[in-house]
Amino acid sequence: MKQRFETRAIHTGCEPEPVTGAVVTPIFQTSTFVQESPGKKKEGYAYARTHNPTRTALEKNIASLEDGNYGLAFPSGMAAISTVTQMLNAGDHVISCDDVYSGTFRVFEKVFKRQNLEFDFIDLTKPHSLEKQIKDNTKIIWLESPSNPLLKITDIKSITNIAKNNNILTVIDNTFATPFFQKPLNLGVDIVVHSTTKYLNGHSDIIGGAVVTNDRELYDKIRFIQNAAGSVPGPFDCFLVLRGIKTLAIRMERHQENAMKIAQFLEKHTKVRKVIYPGLKSHPQYELAKRQMSGFGGIISFFIKGGLDASRSFLERVEIFSLAESLGGVESLIEHPAIMTHTSLPKEVKEKLGISDELIRMSVGIENVDDLIDDLEKSL
Ligand SMILES: *Cc1c(COP(=O)(O)O)cnc(C)c1O
Repeated sequence: MKQRFETRAIHTGCEPEPVTGAVVTPIFQTSTFVQESPGKKKEGYAYARTHNPTRTALEKNIASLEDGNYGLAFPSGMAAISTVTQMLNAGDHVISCDDVYSGTFRVFEKVFKRQNLEFDFIDLTKPHSLEKQIKDNTKIIWLESPSNPLLKITDIKSITNIAKNNNILTVIDNTFATPFFQKPLNLGVDIVVHSTTKYLNGHSDIIGGAVVTNDRELYDKIRFIQNAAGSVPGPFDCFLVLRGIKTLAIRMERHQENAMKIAQFLEKHTKVRKVIYPGLKSHPQYELAKRQMSGFGGIISFFIKGGLDASRSFLERVEIFSLAESLGGVESLIEHPAIMTHTSLPKEVKEKLGISDELIRMSVGIENVDDLIDDLEKSL
């Protein structure tokens, strides 16, 4: 019988180490492995760019959490994203959601465009507008749901249906939802990418990434590029992500519980113009979020009243919330997307998306929620 999520998070890939019986997966800090005879490798290990046992454990673990067959670990989310994109050939076309993670936008626009890949960024929350954008050379549809920082929800099933009818691969960045709240492979997505830097590791102490798929051919292709181009994580970072994942389920439950209370608090506050959280009935895609996710996550965005001055003085006053980029750690973080995380977007794109000077994004941590609300109340 297939074990349930929480059990797999702790055990899959992490069987006791056979030589010593170590219960916790060791950090195999080695670059090479002895061979018994030329070409005869123990357990398939030869050189650590290709394979490392700590990394293998993490890859099996993440694959299992996503209900996927194959996982690959990367040294950053961007490394995972770039390696998947390197499957394409010059002249190929990618359709991406318009509020894709700003680092993804940057690598598409500033690096892969130079290598003659084509990109269109469109609002994928309206699936019917997608078909008109598909061209003969469209190879990938790139999704992010919920998106960053505006937490737009894309109807994953509708998009993958359109993609399949047109023989196009779908890739989703599942960093915000995590597999605890959303399993895109079960909705027809071909490839899931992650920044494990965020919730999966969950302790804000490493940079990492991952790719999961059910398709052996895609896995082999991505693995080949990873090994050939060399984008691999070190064993210590893999160990830390594995350790973080063991508590993913209970962390996500608390992130969401705290976020819901804070979203409701902010929605009633007179200094707040608008709150965006997929778990609020006021979210335009609340019903869709409820249907395709099993929870709403820990990220809230909101618009403060009073322009940049109000944003600044609020963000200077918070004490428990740290004013910092990133998200998904146990500690609460808060930031100003227009000035901090979304600077790589051109001004007109920011305006079109609604990333204004009044927009604030918070990653709600797992501290006592009353302390977090007190901090916000005092600072607003
Ligand atoms: C952080 C992030 C990335 C990039 O990951 P790194 O680990 O910083 O390279 C990609 N997508 C999303 C949604 C992210 O939040």
